[in-house]
Amino acid sequence: MANPTVCVLALGGTIASASDGKGGVLPNLDAATLLAAVPGLDSSGVEVSASTFRSVSSASLTLDDLAQLSDLIAAEAPRHDGIVITQGTDTLEESSFYLDLVTDPAVPLVLTGAMRNPTLAGPDGPANLLAAIQVATNEQARGLGALVVFNDEIHAARSVRKAHTTSTAAFVSPDAGPLGRVSENVVRLHRRLSPAPTIRPVTPTPPANVAVVTTYLGDDGGVLDAIDERYQGLVIAGLGGGHVPGPLLDRIDRLTARMPVVIASRTGAGPILRTTYSFPGSDRDLARRGLISAGSLDPYKSRVLLHLLLASGADRATFADTFEQLS
Ligand code: ASP
Repeated sequence: MANPTVCVLALGGTIASASDGKGGVLPNLDAATLLAAVPGLDSSGVEVSASTFRSVSSASLTLDDLAQLSDLIAAEAPRHDGIVITQGTDTLEESSFYLDLVTDPAVPLVLTGAMRNPTLAGPDGPANLLAAIQVATNEQARGLGALVVFNDEIHAARSVRKAHTTSTAAFVSPDAGPLGRVSENVVRLHRRLSPAPTIRPVTPTPPANVAVVTTYLGDDGGVLDAIDERYQGLVIAGLGGGHVPGPLLDRIDRLTARMPVVIASRTGAGPILRTTYSFPGSDRDLARRGLISAGSLDPYKSRVLLHLLLASGADRATFADTFEQLS
């Protein structure tokens, strides 16, 4: 049997960082250097081709970069048994979900990164990259959409969040836990998810700029006045099960009249309520006012989904149905 082949595409981030000569680090290592640091890869029998797609912090990645990356994934997938993306961890939860929604590769697609850069004692990049390659070449990972492999855990792009600023166990799936794990080089998947729908932006792409606004105790709603014609959609990171303070409601009514508005929760876990509270600004009240429920998607994943729905020219009924499907 031929050796499995993997295509590694590097985008920068901590995993690719080296000294800037002034006491800090910068993402300037190329993909080949990342692979050279992985112990045991040469003897693993996996043929790896590597290419550096970007060398940036993940805060500098744009939706346009991800659109170009998805084209590259589509071109590389037929030539390989799996695709691995390395990037900064700060926006990994968003880029993995974007790729989950726009790509439909026949081979596993795995994203990873590192929390400890290569100049520190115990960098986690090589271990994460090896585990990502092991998952990407594993038959069980086919058809699961984009996966995030980190700290020997396998997470669905739909659920994974960065939940710590420094821990090597920063990535969690708060509601359902990881899909599986890698240990002693063996990939074990404990459960499978139904695949996410594929959403393709149309050409020419309609404007699809989506803002995320977090609400808080004592919010007077004034920040919503900044949501003008530059935006075509809004995600509100609401309180608790999806609630907002009363002073926001008139502004929300004006916004829902001209754009899709999604209510998500700022809590970090759990679904948006639908049928419980009826005070002004409650889950029942916001549903009556026409807000779309984010279900279990967090505000940042909701923003990615709403952006793609707008870019695909979807109608309002499709917005709500798709959020429902991914809940
Ligand atoms: N702290 C980040 C990382 O883990 C930096 C970035 O996201 O690029 O890679």
